[in-house]
Amino acid sequence: MKLSQFNNTIVYDNSIILYNSFTNHFLPVDPLYNDLIESAKINGNIDDLLIYAPVLYIDMIEKGFVISDGIDEIQKVKDLQAKIDQDDDTLYRLIINPTMNCNFKCWYCYESHIKDSKMEEQTISGVMKHIESVVQNMPRIKKFIISWFGGEPLLYFDRVIDPIMSFATNLLTEHNIVLNTSFTTNGYLINAKMINRFHSYNISSFQITLDGNRERHYKVRYVSKSRGSYDEIIDNILALSRSKLPVNLRINFTKNNLEDLEHIVYDILPLEEEYRPYLIISFHKVWQEEDLTLGTRVKDLRLFFKKHGFHTVNGDIPNTLRESCYADRKNHATINYNGEVFKCTARNFSSDAKEGDLKEDGSIVWNEKFHDRMNIKFKNKPCFSCPIMPICNGGCSQAAIESEGEEYCIYNFDEQRKKEVVLEKYFHKINFAAV
Ligand code: SF4
Ligand code: SF4
Repeated sequence: MKLSQFNNTIVYDNSIILYNSFTNHFLPVDPLYNDLIESAKINGNIDDLLIYAPVLYIDMIEKGFVISDGIDEIQKVKDLQAKIDQDDDTLYRLIINPTMNCNFKCWYCYESHIKDSKMEEQTISGVMKHIESVVQNMPRIKKFIISWFGGEPLLYFDRVIDPIMSFATNLLTEHNIVLNTSFTTNGYLINAKMINRFHSYNISSFQITLDGNRERHYKVRYVSKSRGSYDEIIDNILALSRSKLPVNLRINFTKNNLEDLEHIVYDILPLEEEYRPYLIISFHKVWQEEDLTLGTRVKDLRLFFKKHGFHTVNGDIPNTLRESCYADRKNHATINYNGEVFKCTARNFSSDAKEGDLKEDGSIVWNEKFHDRMNIKFKNKPCFSCPIMPICNGGCSQAAIESEGEEYCIYNFDEQRKKEVVLEKYFHKINFAAV
């Protein structure tokens, strides 16, 4: 037997905790036995533990900390990645941008606003034919996910969203395929008529973002200099939750807005307890923020929200293998308003970055960029000896593409930072796992 290469050791509240990033198990260990485990890392004599601590040894085998000598753990990660990203023909995910225009202008947004951009009839019809072609070409498909993105998708609710959703709902129901829908929206345009229609869409989430409390949000997201958006967005979030439509309230943070985020709790407190399970709050570091030491403050915030009866998640804990980004998966396309097709939604949608084109008959012709993306994984040497590879795997395909063939680490090869990732996971497990 040998120790798994994916074992990690962290210290939490003066206790030693082992974590295996492939099996995702945590195991507290007595310091004395941990010395034996550390010595076995050097001497390869982990079987000695069977003599001194047989119960722990068996536990370590059951939880994947100790494995048979012949197991190739990297191959196991590769097999799992292929199963999830390449071979899963039961799920198709389509992201649609009805427009690249938006009613807000946030400083961190990577999208370039294109005024008057909107999906034309020909592209709407192409999208419908594409959905039909997926149903024909993937006979084992069980689930179809349509996500609305942009720009602000709800700007074209009547023109684009409602017709495509009605078409998809009818077609997929006829073929016994589950349709799930989500919206990434700034939440400002939601009204009672839309909420009424949303009930026929089987919605898994509305992702709505706040950039801080009322005062700070006003500075980032406004309709005009004299008109903010915070109160309207909060009202709409409460209206969706009260209609039992699930909302993921994403709170973006930088070191500048972390101070007073508790104020948001007081604005959502009017939500009656029975509707609170429909509102999940997640915290995300804005990607331009470089300070990596903000985790403790986020932990305190999550406990504060929990104390007031709200469910939270930390949106920045990676799980890039098992919950890989849609862009890493073969059976996914992002169709822009003009029929250009992309994978990643976190970079701009310029024509020279497109990875394919939607044709009139609903087919997608992919270009070389798409094929390069699909083959980009497992090329970064440092990941092969990394103890958190099964939860990181070099980050997403976009991170790998942007490394341009150089060796890289999304945590700058900082071993302490990797330990913090494991600590975050442990903190989540002991404080929120039941939520
Ligand atoms: S940056 Fe990475 S995780 Fe984000 S959408 Fe692009 S591929 Fe997915
Ligand atoms: S990118 Fe860094 S943390 Fe992630 S698997 Fe590779 S070496 Fe490990």
